[in-house]
Amino acid sequence: MATTEAHVAGFPQTRLRRTRMSQVLRSMVRETELSNNDFIYPLFVVPGKNVKKEVSSMPGVHQMSVDQIVRECAEVHALGIPAVIFFGIPERKDEVGSGAYDDRGVVQEALRAVKKDVPGLYLITDVCLCEYTSHGHCGIVRGDEILNDESVELLTREALSHVKAGADMVAPSDMFDGRVGAIRKVLDGHGFQNVPIMSYAAKYASGFYGPFREAAESTPKFGDRRSHQMDPANADEAIREVAQDIHEGADIVMVKPALSYLDVIYRVKRQFGMPTAAYNVSGEYAIVKAAGRMGWIDEERVMMEVLTSIKRAGADLILTYFAKEAAKVLARQQ
Ligand SMILES: [Zn+2]
Repeated sequence: MATTEAHVAGFPQTRLRRTRMSQVLRSMVRETELSNNDFIYPLFVVPGKNVKKEVSSMPGVHQMSVDQIVRECAEVHALGIPAVIFFGIPERKDEVGSGAYDDRGVVQEALRAVKKDVPGLYLITDVCLCEYTSHGHCGIVRGDEILNDESVELLTREALSHVKAGADMVAPSDMFDGRVGAIRKVLDGHGFQNVPIMSYAAKYASGFYGPFREAAESTPKFGDRRSHQMDPANADEAIREVAQDIHEGADIVMVKPALSYLDVIYRVKRQFGMPTAAYNVSGEYAIVKAAGRMGWIDEERVMMEVLTSIKRAGADLILTYFAKEAAKVLARQQ
């Protein structure tokens, strides 16, 4: 690139180490800095009272009943993290995921309770059916096909139900075609034209979701998600997916997972200049936690490096299970 020729004279006039020699100067020339405003903290809501059950493959992450979620949200807010995203595990699952669009569902109850007790916290909801269906798929199944348009109709009901219960933003994660436009239309039709949509725009069929499926109890009973989630080998297709969601009205576009897809985050941010989110997923979290526990890596240092790399690639927002720990590190550094 031209910049290299223009700015780099030869050694010894140029010594790139000069700006690295002091802590003060390193801080002053740093290109990427994390802040609490980058973080969205995922939370898993379950039925019952006083439930706080750790997810075994995700140390520090719990399934919580609404009363515990409220306490957790107060803590998250006090740490200076601006937003959370809710996933719900219903009392009963059925073929059509009714718990997802039930106005008394777990996520809806959590939204009402947290809005009341922690009004400053920004509440986002994951919109999908897989946590709510008995077969664990993201939509309605007929034979061995996961139906697109019929599932989208239910997703619009779920999104509307969340917004009515107090969601500030909805985040459809299913990857069915046309769902962003359909949700936008239904929200607008009910006077919620100012509620933004964060779409899981480029979501890959990834092995890094393993621990999440334990947390969300959403492992498919048969088959997999390769008919709607993307092939990890494709990046041009991600650009088409993101373009389509923007066209349908997405306000924020997300790439998921983050670490093996930093090139996709980079391309999406470059190409569209949209507010871009990245999901630092459960498997990425579990790997760092496991190696940290084994004493094989410096967990805190690797955590901050992982989050910085995601931001450096182009993410404005990072959904991460590390949010609370990272916020504590940032507070210490100030
Ligand atoms: Zn799903």
